Amino acid sequence: MSKYSIVVPAYNEEATLRLFYEATVPAFETLNEEFEIIFVNDGSTDRTQEILAELAKQDARVKVCRFSRNFGQQAALLCGMQQASGEAVIAMDADLQDSPETALAMIEKWKEGYEVVHGKRRTRKGESAFKKRTADLFYSLTRKITGLNIPSNVGDFKLYDRKVVNAILSMGEHDRLLRTQTAWVGFKQTFVEFDRPERIAGKSHYTLKKMTRLAQSGILPNTEAGLTFPIKLGLFFGFASVACLITFIVLTCLGISFGGLTAWLFPTIGLVSTITLICQGIANLHTAMIYREVQNRPKYIIAETLNLE
Ligand code: UDP
Ligand code: MG
Repeated sequence: MSKYSIVVPAYNEEATLRLFYEATVPAFETLNEEFEIIFVNDGSTDRTQEILAELAKQDARVKVCRFSRNFGQQAALLCGMQQASGEAVIAMDADLQDSPETALAMIEKWKEGYEVVHGKRRTRKGESAFKKRTADLFYSLTRKITGLNIPSNVGDFKLYDRKVVNAILSMGEHDRLLRTQTAWVGFKQTFVEFDRPERIAGKSHYTLKKMTRLAQSGILPNTEAGLTFPIKLGLFFGFASVACLITFIVLTCLGISFGGLTAWLFPTIGLVSTITLICQGIANLHTAMIYREVQNRPKYIIAETLNLE
């Protein structure tokens, strides 16, 4: 059994894996404690598996799970956590944007008694202003809607104590975002700040579409607000309609003309139908989520493992 399990999702990372291994292993060896690196090859189509097989052959601490296709980073992190045997699990990206030195600082905090240590990005290189803005918006929106205490400028680069890993693994939902799950389980949490460099090679896999899907997986399982909001909205429009009707009757009785009323009708109907359709759409997303839960398909499929039973 290792003391530390480093979990690394890898999707088409042929350009970074060796560099990651060469930077991470010497850093962890300075601890003089046992560790394993679990690479989860998330259905890569480049030479990722070939490189991982070479690393696994030369070093038994390197363990590999290869997915049958691309299931996404969150599924890869889940798989890595399920395979991990360590007393502490550290999730890191393969592209060295999450530095081994910061991981060692996280271990220091863990030894002080913290059960979750977040890597908090002080600065971020190579990220567009759009990506930073949308990330900030996502975190503040998620905090507001779900009531979960999700820290800003924090991604999946974290250390988890075994107790936290077990708690997260006991959560069975299909739509999952490790960041919201970590906030939901609680425990004693702290931060280590770091300057996030650009990825060492290759390019980011996250498109706006993937980010939106991720945001959905973070928000939907943690709130019923989207389902109850239409009730409040319905009440508001109900009262507003009655108020309009009364005003209309009173003005008519007083003989006051207000010829412009019909001009308001079209935009009002347009606004109300837009809001109704959005509310219906949110309900549909919840229905789709429930459908995925009922289907209960596996969250990923492993095609091959190396150095793992
Ligand atoms: N990744 C993955 N599956 C995917 C997309 C990404 O396993 O479908 C891995 C990727 O190889 C990397 C980590 O998740 O190790 C973070 O991805 P990336 O660097 O592209 O994201 P960014 O840092 O740009 O947010
Ligand atoms: Mg990256």
